[in-house]
Amino acid sequence: MHALKSRNVREKEPLSHHTTMKVGGPASYFATPENVQELQSLIARLRKEHIRYVILGRGSNLIFSDKGYKGCVISLKKLMALTFSGKRVRVGAGLPLSSLILKCAAHNLSGLEKLIGIPASVGGAVANNVGAYGVQTSDVLESVTVLTPQGTKILPKSKLSFAYHRGMRGHIIVEATFKLVSKPNTFIQATIKQTLIYRTQTQPLSEPSAGSTFINPKSRKAWQLIEAAGLKGFQKGGAKVSEHHANWIVNTGNATSRDIVWLIRHIQKTVKKKSGVLLQPEVEIIPYG
Ligand SMILES: Cc1cc2nc3c(=O)[nH]c(=O)nc-3n(C[C@H](O)[C@H](O)[C@H](O)COP(=O)(O)OP(=O)(O)OC[C@H]3O[C@@H](n4cnc5c(N)ncnc54)[C@H](O)[C@@H]3O)c2cc1C
Repeated sequence: MHALKSRNVREKEPLSHHTTMKVGGPASYFATPENVQELQSLIARLRKEHIRYVILGRGSNLIFSDKGYKGCVISLKKLMALTFSGKRVRVGAGLPLSSLILKCAAHNLSGLEKLIGIPASVGGAVANNVGAYGVQTSDVLESVTVLTPQGTKILPKSKLSFAYHRGMRGHIIVEATFKLVSKPNTFIQATIKQTLIYRTQTQPLSEPSAGSTFINPKSRKAWQLIEAAGLKGFQKGGAKVSEHHANWIVNTGNATSRDIVWLIRHIQKTVKKKSGVLLQPEVEIIPYG
């Protein structure tokens, strides 16, 4: 049985740019299971002891409460197995998506490279059906392995339903299998390079954030509605509507989770008043209890 340790929910990130909002207090328990068996016994123990839990990918879409999390935060970062078989790759939920993309590129396998730079884990990418520049994770997903009380089971994509920013919820994802296509390495590397340059030019990556704050409503862009409501640069405490991209809230250094949640609600109210559209958060707010 994996020991439950109390830890701060903020994770150190290895990348040079910021990949989380960098807010949130301590969790009652923090667990990093070594493998699926440990994860399984951990979940059984938490259920038995009526302790709530949340699965943490890389935390890039999450806003934890300043008080922290009353329960167990389970990081799947140790589930990183990777197996190539022809044009298929089977990968553990904890592997960073960008690492997967680079490994695929080394095998001349294409399909996910427009998602390079998204600081998701593979599990988080499937859970949220991460997308960018016309590509969604589900486009090349073949099946997902999920935890069951008895072990694991494989769910083919045909049994699942994915849409824009609607991924797979209600399961703990331990592995995913993607079916890719062969492309010349130069083509894949060029797409990776262009995508990373474009991201750096268009996104405020030098400040902590959780990426886009709101889902784009049908045939509208959230950033345009926020700008039209006069909110670009608007600040509450340390949380600010980015000057670079109005659909991003950035942490200017001392933001609290409370500031961010206040700002999200304020944007929703102001945009609704101005344009009649109620923006839906893309970021996920995790309450303390
Ligand atoms: C700089 C930046 C750029 C971004 N760019 C994009 C972008 O271009 N496109 C886009 O779509 N998103 C983008 N995002 C948002 C974010 O990366 C995605 O929402 C991503 O899906 C989160 O993955 P994660 O591993 O960090 O998951 P987390 O944020 O840790 O968790 C997100 C949700 O998934 C659940 N989850 C995570 N892993 C699992 C698992 N194994 N099994 C079951 N549930 C799980 C969590 O419980 C939580 O509900 C960006 C974020 C940042 C900070």
